[in-house]
Amino acid sequence: MDHDIKAIDWKTLASAGVRGVVLDKDNTITLPYSRTVYLPLVNSVRAALSAFGTDNVVVFSNSAGSADDVGFAEADSLSAMLGIPVLKHGGKKPDGADALKAHFGLPDASDDGLASYAMIGDRHLTDVVFGNANGMLTIKTELLSTENDNQVASIMRRYEAKYAAKLVADGLSAPDHPLANHPDIVTMLSTTPPPPKP
Ligand SMILES: [Mg+2]
Repeated sequence: MDHDIKAIDWKTLASAGVRGVVLDKDNTITLPYSRTVYLPLVNSVRAALSAFGTDNVVVFSNSAGSADDVGFAEADSLSAMLGIPVLKHGGKKPDGADALKAHFGLPDASDDGLASYAMIGDRHLTDVVFGNANGMLTIKTELLSTENDNQVASIMRRYEAKYAAKLVADGLSAPDHPLANHPDIVTMLSTTPPPPKP
């Protein structure tokens, strides 16, 4: 998707059958290392919370709440600042599915428990791999800013984008997801406007 989360109509996702959303933090809803939602996205985040309820929206970051976050202090303060729960997973995407399932109260045995949740993030190797590996509806957004971006992330991002483009050119595509074919979602995520109705 060539847009940020503003292009996502949360109510459309919900009415199509998505039960909740998992949001990456850096460059998805905040500028890198910022503890407040990026101002142009505040209304969109509010709309997500109102469409799904606070219990069904969570921030899943590879910094706050990860193995690097001692005592989950950053997750707690971030959660207070953002007004959204921040997952305390103690790992790094693409790991973390069990913590996410536990957060949403999904039974362990249910392998497709996350299938009705959407993963939204700006990175192929973390967010998209995680979402697709766990059968989620996965939406990749464009990064918000290169300012303050983590150096490793910035280098990786370039390689990921090139590699993903090559895989697509070689005929590989994302795993099929039933919700990805829902006409309302197809229309919403399409970068070209839908054809006019006859
Ligand atoms: Mg990110």
